[in-house]
Amino acid sequence: MADPVAASIDVATQQMIQRSHELGIETAFDRAVTMKPCNIGAQGICCKNCSMGPCRLPLPKGGIEGEDTRKGICGATPNTIAARNFIRMIADGWGGSMLATDLQDVLFGTPYPVVSEANLGVMKEDMVNIVIHGHEPVLSEMIVAVVQTQEMQNYVTSKGAKGIQLSGQ
Ligand code: SF4
Repeated sequence: MADPVAASIDVATQQMIQRSHELGIETAFDRAVTMKPCNIGAQGICCKNCSMGPCRLPLPKGGIEGEDTRKGICGATPNTIAARNFIRMIADGWGGSMLATDLQDVLFGTPYPVVSEANLGVMKEDMVNIVIHGHEPVLSEMIVAVVQTQEMQNYVTSKGAKGIQLSGQ
């Protein structure tokens, strides 16, 4: 179980973690405590660059004395593999986000700043709360369209809710 204070500096999140523990609900914060990262991946020395790999070059427990002779099948050294992994992560993230940004601007127009509310307090006790997580605005747009239909409004009010509260990040 995650320690709420150690898991987040945000007070609302700490309260949410505490409450989830009281209700016996596991969250990502709890799973993060038990998740053991791959030791080789954490060192950045696992290469899946080509079909001859994956090549994994773990650092020996006692370290390396003298020359480091570790190499992938192609001859890539640990430093080369770590550097390539790092550059690839940056390039993939940048390229993917630039393409997504351009397409989204075409679909939804150029974004502009708006005043809004943030954090868990946006959820309403008497509404059906839907929290959308992700970076896919098409999905958000579709959910906004669906929750505004008369059918959905009638359905939630028939269950005793005042409406649907959409939030997310
Ligand atoms: S270290 Fe070389 S051979 Fe191994 S997967 Fe990477 S590119 Fe391929």
